[in-house]
Amino acid sequence: MAVLNRIADFAEDMTAWRRDIHAHPEIGFEEHRTSAIVAEKLESWGIAVTRNIAGTGLVGTLKVGDSSRAIGLRADMDALPMDEAGDIPHRSQIAGRMHGCGHDGHTTMLLGAARYLAETRNFDGTVNFIFQPAEEGGGGGRIMVEEGLFERFPCDQVFGIHNDSALPVGTMGIQPGTVNAASDRISIHITGIGGHAARPHNSIDPVVVGAHIVIALQTLVARRIDPIESAVLSLTQFHAGSAGNVIPETGWLNGTVRTLKPHVQDRMEELIIKIATTTAAAHGAEAVVEYERGYPPVVNAEPPCVRAAMAAEKVLGAGKIVSGLPPRMGGEDFSYMAIARPGCFARIGQAGAEKGRVPAHNPKYDFNDEILPIGASYWATLVEQELARS
Ligand SMILES: [Zn+2]
Ligand SMILES: [Zn+2]
Repeated sequence: MAVLNRIADFAEDMTAWRRDIHAHPEIGFEEHRTSAIVAEKLESWGIAVTRNIAGTGLVGTLKVGDSSRAIGLRADMDALPMDEAGDIPHRSQIAGRMHGCGHDGHTTMLLGAARYLAETRNFDGTVNFIFQPAEEGGGGGRIMVEEGLFERFPCDQVFGIHNDSALPVGTMGIQPGTVNAASDRISIHITGIGGHAARPHNSIDPVVVGAHIVIALQTLVARRIDPIESAVLSLTQFHAGSAGNVIPETGWLNGTVRTLKPHVQDRMEELIIKIATTTAAAHGAEAVVEYERGYPPVVNAEPPCVRAAMAAEKVLGAGKIVSGLPPRMGGEDFSYMAIARPGCFARIGQAGAEKGRVPAHNPKYDFNDEILPIGASYWATLVEQELARS
């Protein structure tokens, strides 16, 4: 492994920053302290900072030389609304808040790269250090893009990174194509005609209609989606009625839809609405479907992945870059940035001999500080490679 020496020199500083952020976790759009620390550090290194993008988000801009080339590097800053159960010295000092996904580490790795690049300035072009709020459900990445992120801070390519407790320290997962799923919510509201349970012919029973809708929708993935594609439809809630002798007037179903490709997502939405409304109509009832799109899938473009793998190999050595990992069914709002610009979302292994093996979102999770210099070196090497002096 060839971690950049200068970065290895300040690995202890990075560990201290990371643990301080870990001890003071802030959830989506509340990252005031974290965002202020990031801004202060960037400015202290001579990097121009633009604050208040998507609320607590910010961008640090470092331009060296005359080249118009520009690159975007993104880290997320938010914690999760959960209690920490691990017994570590830097454990969360705030009840119900925890850096359970390692965004403290992502923020620190990007800060480490910023410090190095501001000192060494061994490139020609512009680096935009993108620190986003609210990845865990709030869509901070989407809001930054909607607020003109790439118009205000032009980037030819954008890169993101996430720690991975299933990959060993010293490896990274980099591959083109879909790496995270789209996650959508559905609600189906059924209206029939309520009445006496002994005289069903005078009513339209939303329980029976709902049951037909559940069964009909379960044929969707099996019969209407190409078996080579992936889709999940889980109806997880079915509510109706309040008494044994009353046919209720209404009922509702709730569920989740996961897909890996936009055209499959479009097809699922179209068919769910069609099947639910026509099944209800066939029984004389009415169904209204609310289909709420969450994060779109993260789709990595090929060219930036080739470049990212080259940079990662310079740091980690040959044979340390894993590709062909199965996509994650969890969502990631880096997707919005990767839609706006050619993007690559990489995974960095954090499973060490002892540390970094607990999976993200587990109450005993902790980011493995061992990989801070690796991640920062990857970022810095990527910039020096993409914005190489001619
Ligand atoms: Zn997470
Ligand atoms: Zn995360």
